[in-house]
Amino acid sequence: MLLLKRARVPAAVLPPSVALPPPDPIEPSVLCDIEIAGSRITSVGRSGGSAPAGTQTVDLDGALVFPGFVDAHVHLDKTHTWDRAPNRTGTFTDALETLHKDTVNWTRPDILRRAGFALHCAWEHGTRAIRTHVDTWLPFGEVNHAAMQELREAWKGRITLQTVPLTSVAHYGGSQGDQIADLSLKYGASALGGWTLMNADLPAQLDRLIAIARDRGVGIDLHVDENANPSEEVLRATAEAVIRNGFTNPVVCGHCCSLAVQEAERQHSTLALLKEAHVRVISLPLCNLYLQDRRTTGFPRTPRWRGITLIHEMMDLGIKVACASDNVRDAFYGFGDYDAAEVLIQSLRLAHLDSRLPEAVPVVTTTAAEIIGLPEAGRVAAGAAAQLVVFPAKSFSEFLSRPGSRRKLVDGENIRDARPPGFEDLS
Ligand SMILES: [Zn+2]
Repeated sequence: MLLLKRARVPAAVLPPSVALPPPDPIEPSVLCDIEIAGSRITSVGRSGGSAPAGTQTVDLDGALVFPGFVDAHVHLDKTHTWDRAPNRTGTFTDALETLHKDTVNWTRPDILRRAGFALHCAWEHGTRAIRTHVDTWLPFGEVNHAAMQELREAWKGRITLQTVPLTSVAHYGGSQGDQIADLSLKYGASALGGWTLMNADLPAQLDRLIAIARDRGVGIDLHVDENANPSEEVLRATAEAVIRNGFTNPVVCGHCCSLAVQEAERQHSTLALLKEAHVRVISLPLCNLYLQDRRTTGFPRTPRWRGITLIHEMMDLGIKVACASDNVRDAFYGFGDYDAAEVLIQSLRLAHLDSRLPEAVPVVTTTAAEIIGLPEAGRVAAGAAAQLVVFPAKSFSEFLSRPGSRRKLVDGENIRDARPPGFEDLS
């Protein structure tokens, strides 16, 4: 048994019995004692009790402790291709073309090497659940899914790895639809996914995707509106399709950038549809910041907008919103390290989530976990997995001010220094 004394835990990840009354929103944390036996947390309470005789005790002296992070949207098949396939203009168009050309290199050993390194980085940063999108346009895609299934097995018990096929939504309307679904589910996919732009057939394509997902008992997870064009409303069309079909399986939409540049009245009515349809949203602020507002002409030029969706307005309505890494070290985003603490800190700064700090913590913990169907993850509670991240910070101010700080990891009764792998391990 391990007893962690004086752990400063964000109130948002605690059960109400411990979190209430709510702490000061500037410092939304509670000083706790956490008891661990084997791989589980056995009790969490406000600090102050005495330890039973013979218990191994570690006094954390008020250090900030998060649950293992949940990264709800990444691309492990594309990751760490930057060195051989860099995006020289930083534009979305070049990202698509560059990575498409690179797919000739995507053998199973190549994907295992790059994605395996990515999971190792995520693990050492304290992430314990990941949902990755996987490029799938038949016959291309089976190798990618097979590699992800191999990694899922290899990391079992450490990282929960979910997969979602990424393809054109139009494919679901054609003969490939069932094949893509069956292939993805054969390799353990958690939902069906895809991307699209507005087109005349979109409602029919979404209806077909929903029918395929309903037949197989899974939800959907789409890339929508990753642009600044106000007439792109795939998010709205998705919510309408969910309502039209009475679809009750989980529906997730990632990006949703163009919503932020629409007229206020239209925004409000789309938000109301999202709420009615129970659509969950994953914002990818770092990738949006990188790709949005780049131009092919007049390059380089100072960007005028941040590209993020209406996170505050969604939170106001109780729409579930997570933030996630998205691409890492590939043509869609040249940086990144699968560090959910970095995602949280940068998202908080970009979207002014410091103004609602208690609701910001869940974007990479509790809400992220709920969105991808892992309601037990991202929490510090009796019965939850003993997977914790201890930061050298005694307040949110210290945590937010020093993003790159070394952390300790708790897995079961073991506490150790995090040791992210060096880039030499990638080659
Ligand atoms: Zn993505």
